[in-house]
Amino acid sequence: MSQSLATVAYLGAAILFILSLGGLSNPETSRRGNLFGMIGMALAVLATVFGPRVSPSGITWIVIALVIGGGIGLYAAKIVKMTQMPELVALMHSLVGLAACLVGFASYVDSSVQFSGAEKAIHEVEIYIGILIGAVTFSGSLIAFGKLAGRIGGKPLLLPGRHWLNLAALLVVIWFGKQFLNAHASGAGMTALVVMTVIALLFGVHMVMAIGGADMPVVVSMLNSYSGWAAAATGFMLNNDLLIVTGALVGSSGAILSYIMCNAMNRNFISVIAGGFGSGAPKKAATGDKAAEPQGEVVPVSAAETAEMLREAKSVIIVPGYGMAVAQAQHTVYEITKTLREKGVDVRFAIHPVAGRMPGHMNVLLAEAKVPYDIVMEMDEINEDFPEADVAMVIGANDIVNPSALEDPDSPIAGMPVLEVWKAKHSIVMKRSMASGYAGVDNPLFYKDNNRMLFGDAKKMLDEALGALKA
Ligand code: NDP
Repeated sequence: MSQSLATVAYLGAAILFILSLGGLSNPETSRRGNLFGMIGMALAVLATVFGPRVSPSGITWIVIALVIGGGIGLYAAKIVKMTQMPELVALMHSLVGLAACLVGFASYVDSSVQFSGAEKAIHEVEIYIGILIGAVTFSGSLIAFGKLAGRIGGKPLLLPGRHWLNLAALLVVIWFGKQFLNAHASGAGMTALVVMTVIALLFGVHMVMAIGGADMPVVVSMLNSYSGWAAAATGFMLNNDLLIVTGALVGSSGAILSYIMCNAMNRNFISVIAGGFGSGAPKKAATGDKAAEPQGEVVPVSAAETAEMLREAKSVIIVPGYGMAVAQAQHTVYEITKTLREKGVDVRFAIHPVAGRMPGHMNVLLAEAKVPYDIVMEMDEINEDFPEADVAMVIGANDIVNPSALEDPDSPIAGMPVLEVWKAKHSIVMKRSMASGYAGVDNPLFYKDNNRMLFGDAKKMLDEALGALKA
């Protein structure tokens, strides 16, 4: 393939990526957005593999790598459960970081391309920054993976003088950067590069370890952004325009998402990085870990009683949370919605921006179950309507409906906007036990006079309630 044809293909791929991002911003156009992204990526890969910069012997190696990498990716995507998706995404981000590091080291030791003067300095700055971003992304994403998978506790690691440690790490990295650029022998340059990489890896671990449970959504989107910048840095090192454009698109859209998440949590970016928010340790429903200390009496209800309350309601607001994803209850939720709407009940969904374990998690599940988009409302659109609702039905959600965020200034999640379900005439919380949610904070909603608890697996309870509704 000639250079000009490859450039046209890159341009086409870049446009398709932009259209893809545009499509993904709305549930109704998201499928089309995905399709644009897939076509763009196929075009980009083909133009690169058959482009002018790959020799025929190189193609064999690339095809072997594609088959191995593609095979692993396909297998992982096939076996991953919907609830493990956020962990998979974090793991993928770590691979982008690792790739940036490896490409950086390879570019440094590659003797086939020789630069001199200003070009050499620019190339070395690209390598240094590329490896720096890549290493932070790699180790930070691995820790995020551990936290999302529950292998590392949600409690933030708050080392004494941690801000000074971070500042010292930054200064050392700058100093070694100077040594790297001034190094005349490649051995000295390599030492500076390796020391910086180790510091960057430790910084990534420290940064994400210091984040409290409640700030994890921001961290997930922040690492998404970092992975984009790492890809852009790789593009600079490899002199590949499409990688620069694509990396910048991912980097900036991730940064915008982080900003949206910060707003949703009423937090500013600096305090997220400073860590510590939502510092309770998640309590497990399983035996062994003790659940929240009782703060009063809770009133349990049965699935049949829940069906009765729903049948008598004129207006119902459903609040889905992470437990709905765990139970895979979205299809039954839709069946209940359909049945109630046929009986003339007004049913709407209230989506908190950080519900579940990844941005847009609930929207994806509800779209999969074919819930009409026009009854799915964002928090800001529906929060004021709770007082008019007869029943607010909370399905496997906890932190996002915790009144202590608004009522208790000492709460670890104080200030975070939440869905005000307790203002409805009745609320029903569906979960298996009294255990707290991801942020590890006790929830006073359970003890409110107008609240009822429906204990059990959400799918099982909803199936029973649906049966009772239809009977
Ligand atoms: P939570 O984690 O606060 O609560 C989920 C609840 O679901 C649990 O208390 C659990 O209680 C219940 N549950 C689990 N399995 C089932 C089941 N099979 N049937 C019924 N209930 C079940 O989730 P929310 O959605 O309310 O809040 C999201 C939290 O995750 C926030 O703290 C957010 O900051 C954090 N987060 C969000 C991310 C994002 O991007 N959206 C990323 C990372 C973290 P029980 O065990 O008693 O059943």
